[in-house]
Amino acid sequence: MRIPQESLIPASDFIIIGGTGDLALRKILPALFYRFIDNQIPDGCGLIIAARRLPNRAEFLARLKNFCDIAIATSEWEIWEKFCSRLSLVKFDVEIGTGAEEIKKICEGTKATPRIFYLAISPSLFGIACQTLKKRGLATSLTRLVVEKPLGHDLASACEVDNALLSVFKETQVYRIDHYLGKETVQNLMALRFANSLFESQWTNASISNVQISVAESVGVGSRASYYDRFGALRDMVQNHLLQLLCLVAMEPPARFNADEVRNEKLRVLRALKPIKTNEFDRLVKLGQYSSGEGDDSDLKSYVEEVGNQTTTETFVAMRVEIENWRWSGVPFYLRTGKRLARRASEIVITFRQPPHNIFSKSGKSSTMALSSNKLIIRLQPNEGIRLGLTSKAPGPGGMRLRPASLNLSFSDTFKERIPEAYERLLMDVARGNQTLFMSSNEVEAAWRWIDPIIEQASFVQPELYSSRSWGPISSFELMAEHGVRWIEPEADL
Ligand code: NAP
Repeated sequence: MRIPQESLIPASDFIIIGGTGDLALRKILPALFYRFIDNQIPDGCGLIIAARRLPNRAEFLARLKNFCDIAIATSEWEIWEKFCSRLSLVKFDVEIGTGAEEIKKICEGTKATPRIFYLAISPSLFGIACQTLKKRGLATSLTRLVVEKPLGHDLASACEVDNALLSVFKETQVYRIDHYLGKETVQNLMALRFANSLFESQWTNASISNVQISVAESVGVGSRASYYDRFGALRDMVQNHLLQLLCLVAMEPPARFNADEVRNEKLRVLRALKPIKTNEFDRLVKLGQYSSGEGDDSDLKSYVEEVGNQTTTETFVAMRVEIENWRWSGVPFYLRTGKRLARRASEIVITFRQPPHNIFSKSGKSSTMALSSNKLIIRLQPNEGIRLGLTSKAPGPGGMRLRPASLNLSFSDTFKERIPEAYERLLMDVARGNQTLFMSSNEVEAAWRWIDPIIEQASFVQPELYSSRSWGPISSFELMAEHGVRWIEPEADL
């Protein structure tokens, strides 16, 4: 792939603390390798893997290769070998600082700026890690720090995490990743809204009847059971990913596409979320927990079996949310996320209002003349793309018969290129110093402030069981039926 001039990054040092862990091996390092294949990582960059215990180099590279196999197949073996030769492995303990001198020496050798520390470690170590970087002279004004969820467990703990980061670094040096924001379709949502007058002029409560945001996972919690059980779907998915997607759909057009403007507009949305009162909770929020599978899926264990005790943590949430401002007054936003659902799919569906009068309806023939609402479906994963659902005339001489039809924009078919993983884009943005697609401290705080009372209420509720590989508990459908709408189930292909 030819990289446009404006996408090149300055020579930068990437230091992955926790570089031998799951996040580094599955996401961060393969993303850097893809960027390396495309010549986006200049020669002067240092790539440092840091952890307390290091496997020997050959063993580590063999492990990493498993996660880079697809990338290696699209490239040449020499490029993989060259990438490996650029990796430095350093024994480093953020708690006591051993290994800091070696990292410093490598960084001073590359003379690269900026110096990017990716904290791929538990957030409980963020505070001490920042202090160690400062004490050992690794944190400079040109240092950037990358962190990702969980950024706290509630508002108070999120503020603690932030205080720890901001006691050493300025807000402009901290990059809080929500990898959903790095997805091509999510960025395309902004292009669709703000680079086309067609949609933006319709983007109000006058034209839109409801918005649905679904992030469905087909897998269960598996080996992450002990982590997940302390969080649940409200903290793990709604507080961050779903609210960030809601912000991008609902925000006002920023004056410029830059970090301050975009993040301020998202913050305004978060602050305009209508609180869910205690007496509304049962009506507006539905919680579920997966039970074992049925039929062909009967070997799938229930959540309780996976966790090993009678937990009431929710693995599914469906909720009806409102935004209190002029643009969105009266438009429900339905959010839904869950594990072990029928299919892995993340979609945003914008449903437009019906035309005010159906000129085609005739008595007795309404079924072939019914108008369906236009829908704009933004598919985030898998098979990223956009579909616009329309009503069109059925072809043929049989008179005016209407039927649903759609305009499809599948990114991989249209652009004939590999769609980069979110982490690729985000890591390059860190090197370029572009915080537009990262969450500000204020956004994280506002999201917790809104969701904390909901989580508090949820702790008193016994989630409704749903079968593994279904679309969630019955109450999720009742939430919609009460308002005369239904969930638009994601299709296998866009
Ligand atoms: P993990 O597999 O347990 O890896 C943790 C890494 O941190 C290991 O390399 C570990 O190596 C290193 N480490 C631990 N203590 C250290 C210390 N004192 N000094 C230096 N290195 C230390 O965890 P993970 O799944 O990669 O997750 C890391 C963080 O990212 C967690 O906070 C997680 O919630 C978050 N996250 C993960 C994912 C994911 O897909 N995995 C997604 C989103 C967010 P040593 O023990 O040898 O030091």
